Amino acid sequence: MASMFRHPASVALLVLLGGLVLAGVLLVPWDVHPPSAAAQADAVAGLPAETVAAGKEFAAATRPGSYIAMGLSLAVALLLGLTPLGARIIEWCGRPFGGHWLAEAVLGGVAVVLAAQLVTLPLSAWRHTILVRFGLSTQTWGAWAADLAKSYGVTVVTAAIMLAGLYGLMRLSPRLWWLWASAAAGVLVVVMSAVYPVVVEPLFNRFTPMADGPLRTELIEMAERDGLPVTDVLVADASRRTTAVNAYVSGLGPTRRIVVYDTLLEAPREQVVSVVAHELGHAKHGDVWVGTSIGALAVAAAACGIAVLAGAGGLLRRAGVDDITSPRSAGLILAAVAVVGLLAGPVQNVISRQIEMRADQHALELTGDPQTFIEMQTGLATTNLSDVDPPTVLHWLFGSHPTTAQRIAMAKEYA
Ligand SMILES: [Zn+2]
Repeated sequence: MASMFRHPASVALLVLLGGLVLAGVLLVPWDVHPPSAAAQADAVAGLPAETVAAGKEFAAATRPGSYIAMGLSLAVALLLGLTPLGARIIEWCGRPFGGHWLAEAVLGGVAVVLAAQLVTLPLSAWRHTILVRFGLSTQTWGAWAADLAKSYGVTVVTAAIMLAGLYGLMRLSPRLWWLWASAAAGVLVVVMSAVYPVVVEPLFNRFTPMADGPLRTELIEMAERDGLPVTDVLVADASRRTTAVNAYVSGLGPTRRIVVYDTLLEAPREQVVSVVAHELGHAKHGDVWVGTSIGALAVAAAACGIAVLAGAGGLLRRAGVDDITSPRSAGLILAAVAVVGLLAGPVQNVISRQIEMRADQHALELTGDPQTFIEMQTGLATTNLSDVDPPTVLHWLFGSHPTTAQRIAMAKEYA
């Protein structure tokens, strides 16, 4: 194991990890804090009992499936990466093509990636039945399957490009591939962040500019008042699949857009304004940039991490491959990505929660209307069947947003 740290990539890995810590310290708003437990309990007490009960019931119904899916896909990734099984599947996929590296990398690699996802298919179907039972999904099985097929399609295309790129670089530059891969992966994250809203999102939703009217005018005026003129507010036809309400901002520069679910437009106007004020907070603080730069550093570090991993002969032997530069190592790389991804989840979530709290504060300051903010949070929790006050450990591990209790308590403090 000691020899793996002699690889020059381990120096680059340390530098990038240092950069990640620095970005985390400098870019994440650590100065916003959730309200006290007492204030949160008070916020829960002020919510309709049915809202609280329905959220708990829905969480109890869906949580087991989510945890089983997470565990199962990790187990399969480890099985494919830490035994020769993955390497054998990849070899088998390349055989009709005379074992050509590109066939092994793309077909074999994608097969291994898909295997780890497809095992969770029955759990996704189970989840769909729960969403329908709770009235949260409006999708038929056909529409559900079409969405699933599209998201597998996105996975296949992304994985194929990344695998062909990675193993192509390894062949072109057997000694310094990790340097190029690291730079390319970082750049790819930035490009994806910019093109995702215009390339991937339209696969799932249709976007139309919000119709002229008092709401649109009020939103555009508010954005101007905020010093952040927007050219457009788009409406997504989310009602085709869900009753959940949401809004978000995505993209960078010219692709940046504020998107409002059509389901949200049934809410009173002030509440839509409050939601968009939160999204403007994200735009104003450049939160997409924060996420993108941290993401770019993380994948660049991951590419160096793979090279460091390659120095661990024991792992390669376990995976049944002689060399990391053989596409048969894709299973081992997938296993490493799965483990690191699982460990990085809580870190990603704490960063996300800080950013979300800052956007909430921005919404409160911009609208000066905590009462509507509270009504909107109550409405969101009721419609989306949110667990308003989940167990602390679960919230810490899996919560990407402050809880409803925290958000309402924050608005009460502001008032
Ligand atoms: Zn947000």
